[in-house]
Amino acid sequence: MKSLLAGGAALTVLSNIDWAKAAEMAAEAVRKGKINIVWFEGQSCTGDTTSIIQATDPDLVQVLLGASHLAGPGTVGLAFHDTIMPEWGEGAIEILHLAERGAYDPYVLVLEGSIPDENHARKHCNDPNHCGYYCFVGEENGRVVTCTEWVRRLAKRAVAVLTFGACASYGGIPANKVLEPPPGWTYPSWSLAPTGAIGFFDDPIRGYKGLISRTADMPEFTPYFKYIYEDCDPILSPDSGCKPAVAVPGCPANGNGMLRVLVHMVLAALYPNLVPLPKASQWLDQYARPKYIFGRTVHDQCPRAGYYAAGAFRVNPGDNDAKCLFAVGCKGPASNCPWNKYGWVNGVGGPTRTGGVCIGCTMPGFSDAFEPFYKPLPAPATPSAPAALATTVGAAAVGAIVGYAMSKKGKSE
Ligand code: SF4
Ligand code: SF4
Repeated sequence: MKSLLAGGAALTVLSNIDWAKAAEMAAEAVRKGKINIVWFEGQSCTGDTTSIIQATDPDLVQVLLGASHLAGPGTVGLAFHDTIMPEWGEGAIEILHLAERGAYDPYVLVLEGSIPDENHARKHCNDPNHCGYYCFVGEENGRVVTCTEWVRRLAKRAVAVLTFGACASYGGIPANKVLEPPPGWTYPSWSLAPTGAIGFFDDPIRGYKGLISRTADMPEFTPYFKYIYEDCDPILSPDSGCKPAVAVPGCPANGNGMLRVLVHMVLAALYPNLVPLPKASQWLDQYARPKYIFGRTVHDQCPRAGYYAAGAFRVNPGDNDAKCLFAVGCKGPASNCPWNKYGWVNGVGGPTRTGGVCIGCTMPGFSDAFEPFYKPLPAPATPSAPAALATTVGAAAVGAIVGYAMSKKGKSE
């Protein structure tokens, strides 16, 4: 930490700071608020953080400083976020310890990035204190604390878990399989990725169990498992036996989408009579995503749908036309996502809106099951179609594929 600063004066000032006390003061400031956010990053590129900063409706400043009748200044505190928090080093780690002990109750735990299989990492290292880890944050008694360990500890007192991005939700790109394993390669036990990475929720397309389903080894996740799989009534309390867990996937997840779900959770915690939190079956889909965001496919809401209906398909990915992108690999019929309709930032952008194919980043299985990005979706019945993706491709996709085939037939005739 000190070596980051070259100036002698600044170094002197910093070395005089009592970091534990500074962290306690910061904690006290946030404690005055009514609810906190602990944002924890595992194996992540921080794309979702970049994305949430671009949220416009509401924006992050409105949420944190209060810009509505419901939430005033100090209502929501961002207790921990390793990319944008002012504390660093030991002061930042101390906040995680304080959260673990209840100093930031109530807090919502936000996860960004996937979680690796540390058992696999340890197999390849002889020093258990300082190597053989894929992901860790800080040390404790001379030993690193792994990301898995932090997520377990933080999930215990959290009132809800939100996963932002494909990685945290289902494993995302870090969970992609090794295409050409080197000789002697042994696969980690959790997934077919080099680090065995998985997400918080199950990935039924790739067949990976998420953290939420590993309750035999990690009982901290049982209340979230009950919410998703047993459909119990949620209670936003650290000691509740049923706590909500919600996925907001994407690569990255959309800023407005993440912030709306976060605000939903905050309002449900603050005003349960005004914004009651429903059971999972009432508002989440089979992949734990809110139906109010992910209820329809890209294809259902695509601005190019007229061209699709007319059988006008783009021929080369880079062609300068407004035609449907199905034939150049668009995965819109197999992906649930609204941002091509609403625009990515403030009504602007989104792949099919701007000429790029949908790559399926809001789905479990991403990106393994959606590659090659520029290859058209397989028909579910064809032998070459990956079985898992064929399951994903629902009625809309079948309709699209059949429509595409018919238009080709019509054209050739
Ligand atoms: S989901 Fe995409 S944007 Fe988010 S951390 Fe993973 S790779 Fe980065
Ligand atoms: S296939 Fe893709 S580009 Fe064509 S209408 Fe569907 S979502 Fe839009």
